[in-house]
Amino acid sequence: MDIEAFRKAGYQAIDRICDYYYSLEQKPVASQVHPGYLRELLPAAAPEEGEDFQAIADDYQKLIVPGLTHWQHPNFYAYFPTACTFEGMLGDLYATSATNPGFNWACSPACTELEAVVMDWAAQLFGLAGHFLNSSEIGGGVIQTTASDSALVAIVAARARYTAAHPDVRLEDLVIYTTTQTHSLGVKAALVLGLACRALEVSADDRFALRGAALRAALDADKARGKHPFVLVGTVGTTSSGAVDRLDEIGEVLKEHPDVWLHVDAAWAGVTLACPEYRAPAQLASINAHADSFCTNFHKWGLVNFDASTLWVRNRRHLTDALDVTPEFLRTKQGDAGTVIDYRNWHLSLGRRFRSLKVWFVLRSYGAAGFREHIRKGIALNAHFAALVRAAPPFALVTEPSFALSVFRLAPPLPGVADGEREAALDALNRAYYARLAARPDVLLTQTVLNGTFCIRFAVGAARTTQDHVERAWGAIQEEARAALAEWEA
Ligand code: PLP
Repeated sequence: MDIEAFRKAGYQAIDRICDYYYSLEQKPVASQVHPGYLRELLPAAAPEEGEDFQAIADDYQKLIVPGLTHWQHPNFYAYFPTACTFEGMLGDLYATSATNPGFNWACSPACTELEAVVMDWAAQLFGLAGHFLNSSEIGGGVIQTTASDSALVAIVAARARYTAAHPDVRLEDLVIYTTTQTHSLGVKAALVLGLACRALEVSADDRFALRGAALRAALDADKARGKHPFVLVGTVGTTSSGAVDRLDEIGEVLKEHPDVWLHVDAAWAGVTLACPEYRAPAQLASINAHADSFCTNFHKWGLVNFDASTLWVRNRRHLTDALDVTPEFLRTKQGDAGTVIDYRNWHLSLGRRFRSLKVWFVLRSYGAAGFREHIRKGIALNAHFAALVRAAPPFALVTEPSFALSVFRLAPPLPGVADGEREAALDALNRAYYARLAARPDVLLTQTVLNGTFCIRFAVGAARTTQDHVERAWGAIQEEARAALAEWEA
């Protein structure tokens, strides 16, 4: 394709993307295709001769779009929505147009310098303490691919710091601490690193938050049997219920264990820190006082299209001590002089995408005020949903709503079911109910299990969701509940 053909195909692509957004609400939220549908439609091997690009672009519409689940659909309430924006898309388009693996400052100074500046903007937007800023030249921020990568990088740094202080420790005695509510990223990091992982118990009475006493008991017990817990992954906004670990208590306990690294995974809820009124619930003061590393994803609720996971560390040397490998062919004058950031030493791969561009576009176009408004809108819509649930027994919230997430189920009286069998009966009823809901094309929610209780999550956050959408979704949720209850009674 030459430049003029690109101009033409590019205009068409933008037109078609606009049409896609205009027609989004008419599409089923979840793709309706069957497994293997695409293999049936595509040739078994790449074409020998190049094809006309128009045919390729048309096949995208015909073959690929039907196989998409529309995460930008305003009635997408599953997992955690990804609030993507046109500004973010354009940022990615420009970034890819200059395709540039920006691993060293010298590879493309703008890539490194924009990331360093934008990460400081974001740190200030979230109220992070000065030591997390790149301008501090002590800590700093870096954009990773995902929160799972951010956690892995933080744990690698934590391990390096710990083993440097305890050179005789055996790797099999190192332990990563998570909780039963931590995202799979804790176990995944343990698998990758070949280390043990212990999930600490949390209780429904504490709304699934890790408390200081449970951490202290685990540390004492593990250390007494010769184990070396060296990192704790705490969470602000767990996936299942939005729980916020008690970072204040955790921080106090870790003062007695200063070699244990605290990584705070706020992949979803961290962006609420942009709003002063959510800083206490998200425990900003404890993040600033105690966290060695903090991660939130702009690519979830934060208006930036996937991927943009932002990671800050209290001390950048812990990253570079763990990850700096500099063969001759990667040396540069500026790197040798130590006057620049070489981001290749702050993550796992060498090459990296120019992600800061889309974050910069979004933060400038929305401004801090527009960003806050988006977060507040999500929380207000969820509060509205939670009020509807509360007012409509046999619907019941399973835990208190958290930020923009509600977790609910049906809990009718079930006459004739013995007390000892009630939970099993409710489990069966709610699973049947969720199956009905999941089959609907007009709304998408996902399920979870909390303390053995099967429940349904309603997560607000897509950029185009309004109160009207929430009310229509509530209509669908009620309709399927009536049908599930009728079926149960029959
Ligand atoms: N942490 C939490 C609390 C999450 O909810 C999620 C995903 O939903 C993740 C981490 C994983 O995010 P990523 O896909 O960026 O690794």
